[in-house]
Amino acid sequence: MAGQIAELARDTLRRDFRAIDPRMARILLVEAADRVLTSFPPSLSARAERSLQRLGVTVLTGRTVVGVDGNGVTLDDGSGEAERMSSRTVVWAAGVTASSLASRLGELTGAERDSAGRVTVERDLTLPGHPEVFALGDMVRVRGADGVSVVLPGVAPVAMQQGRYAAKVVRARLRDRETPPFRYRDKGNLATIGRLAAVADIKGLRLSGLIAWTTWLVVHLWYLIGFQNRILVLIRWSFSFATHGRGARLITEAVAETGARQPQSSR
Ligand SMILES: Cc1cc2nc3c(=O)[nH]c(=O)nc-3n(C[C@H](O)[C@H](O)[C@H](O)COP(=O)(O)OP(=O)(O)OC[C@H]3O[C@@H](n4cnc5c(N)ncnc54)[C@H](O)[C@@H]3O)c2cc1C
Repeated sequence: MAGQIAELARDTLRRDFRAIDPRMARILLVEAADRVLTSFPPSLSARAERSLQRLGVTVLTGRTVVGVDGNGVTLDDGSGEAERMSSRTVVWAAGVTASSLASRLGELTGAERDSAGRVTVERDLTLPGHPEVFALGDMVRVRGADGVSVVLPGVAPVAMQQGRYAAKVVRARLRDRETPPFRYRDKGNLATIGRLAAVADIKGLRLSGLIAWTTWLVVHLWYLIGFQNRILVLIRWSFSFATHGRGARLITEAVAETGARQPQSSR
């Protein structure tokens, strides 16, 4: 996201304003861990960081956000001294909590929940003691063979594989058949950073730059439903790539003394 914001500021919006130069925007990426993209191997994190820096993003690792207000954020780098960063725009991307439905299911069935609100399901994705209730996706963690609950990555492939698995279990039950426990097949990790910049970790194959970015494009097109959709998206992406254009526009408004909104500039 930081890379995309940098491209919007330096590229897409650069001619859209008379009074300000969006290229002057300072983009800070604050990360509590010691590197960005911690789900990738350290070598790819380092390449991603270099790509972000080339786009003009300042990467601040090892800092925890301890406060956010209307004028900026307060960071803690572990030294005990708070560091203040002024900013009018803060994007929080440090994870999500599970749907409140997970908590409710946990309350009703006594299933364990973790601090992110995920409910623990059995190895066949059903709630403990309730084989008739499946729960899956971002709202669950799955009990492993050793009884320890495993948190799978909060990404769409996990939810899709679990959805298919639940359907298989229902079908098998109708035929009085057994189904082996759910197993997540990790097909790899892809992250796009900006134009021609991405990182990919596909079963040990580590890619970065143009080749990773092309892989990202092909994989995303491949997983779209329907040939027509794939062609339409490909045309739209090619057009945006060639023209450097996107549907990004800002409409800024000031709230006047009376409380009525007064447009300042728009496009
Ligand atoms: C900003 C953002 C970007 C992401 N980008 C990526 C990405 O690039 N690649 C990737 O793989 N993953 C990405 N993810 C993660 C991915 O979206 C999730 O992992 C995936 O959608 C999980 O699927 P799910 O079915 O568990 O939940 P969801 O897709 O969230 O679906 C749950 C649905 O249940 C509905 N619901 C909730 N409570 C109730 C209720 N009580 N009754 C009825 N309906 C209810 C919700 O409204 C929602 O529609 C992203 C997530 C976010 C937030």
